[in-house]
Amino acid sequence: MPATVAAETDADYILVGGGLQNALILLALAERKPSARVVLLERENRIGGNHIWSFQTLDLPEAAMPWAGQLIEHEWPGYQLYFDDSSRWVEGAYRSLSSEYLDRLVREAAASRPGFELQLGSEVVSVEADGVTLADGTRLRGALVVDARGPELAAPAGAGGYQKFVGLECRLRAPTGLQAPILMDSRCDQRDGFRFHYVLPFSEDRVLIEETYFSNEPDLDVAAISDDILADAGRLGLEVAEVLRTEVGVLPMPARSHFRPRGASPIQAGYAGGWFNPGTGYSLAAAARLAEHVSRVPLAEVFGAEWRRLTRELRVQAFFLAFLNLLMFRFFHDDKRRRLMERFYMVSDPVIHRFFAMRSTLVDMWRIMYVGAPWTPKGWAKRATERG
Ligand SMILES: Cc1cc2nc3c(=O)[nH]c(=O)nc-3n(C[C@H](O)[C@H](O)[C@H](O)COP(=O)(O)OP(=O)(O)OC[C@H]3O[C@@H](n4cnc5c(N)ncnc54)[C@H](O)[C@@H]3O)c2cc1C
Repeated sequence: MPATVAAETDADYILVGGGLQNALILLALAERKPSARVVLLERENRIGGNHIWSFQTLDLPEAAMPWAGQLIEHEWPGYQLYFDDSSRWVEGAYRSLSSEYLDRLVREAAASRPGFELQLGSEVVSVEADGVTLADGTRLRGALVVDARGPELAAPAGAGGYQKFVGLECRLRAPTGLQAPILMDSRCDQRDGFRFHYVLPFSEDRVLIEETYFSNEPDLDVAAISDDILADAGRLGLEVAEVLRTEVGVLPMPARSHFRPRGASPIQAGYAGGWFNPGTGYSLAAAARLAEHVSRVPLAEVFGAEWRRLTRELRVQAFFLAFLNLLMFRFFHDDKRRRLMERFYMVSDPVIHRFFAMRSTLVDMWRIMYVGAPWTPKGWAKRATERG
């Protein structure tokens, strides 16, 4: 990478794909490098598709808050978990963000920075180290290209399993008493792996109800699961008046991590580049760390020591998380998987937060393997948790 950007380039940063990853990079650059030249290319006419992204307290690094703080559309003080034989509250901010909200943030940031340009409705057909070619033949040259064209381009998951879900955003007939999300309620019939409900209460009469499976198979019968959700809503204390929106996801939980980023342009970023948590299929935490890195360091140092530190750290985390998937999807089936999840949530709140943020320490890894493992007698595990 040259120390100074050649005058003949069209942009300092070319961001390919206007999904979560590049939206975060653009927002970070808007805060840290407002006079940079940034082009974001997205084939659709809006940013971020059709999602609700949830994230936990440590998923946004503290240092990133000057630009990442605005991502918090909804926030709750913690969340609840219910299993057949136990329940628990996890303390620590739980947050969410919708595509519409992200779209607005990105448009506002770009509109107030003269060097920032959003090219919506632009299909990119090829991506190279120093630029891209669009479907209409236009060639754009950039000093750094970030290719984040989303899950369609992700490497096959290989052995492992899937977190798959159908979510219905609903208007309720009567106000919900819920003050915080239910991250997992598995007090329902178990089938197709581990099955549970997830509820986000956005307001008194608007909630997202998701039915989720940790399954060995990717198939999803959206119509049947939507019916199940409506049938189960009463058990969750929710009276549905109307379904406003449906969200469907099949996120690979690979048993082997593919995260091996090259230290050169174009950066394979976002989901396709393996910047996600293999243990959850969620990518916001890893995407925020990449955005923080790209926006902090000078262009000439993007692949320097700090890049090597960040990618090494995430590789270790991804390896550990994928190993947990290997254990779960190969050895824990049916009721054993449900009990495994219940045991995992015996670990302390900080261990849970670091697990989601891909910041587990070696001691955390030991705790997850020891406290969270069904082969450790419950009494020993409890004592280890209390000591931790
Ligand atoms: C239903 C669902 C719910 C999820 N919920 C969460 C969650 O709660 N928390 C979390 O952390 N993660 C979540 N994830 C996982 C992950 O965060 C998302 O998949 C995330 O959107 C990935 O970000 P990305 O930028 O890599 O890809 P995307 O957000 O998919 O963005 C890729 C973009 O590239 C564009 N594109 C593709 N090809 C081209 C091309 N040739 N030219 C131009 N543009 C192109 C696409 O139109 C798209 O806008 C969820 C995933 C799904 C599917």
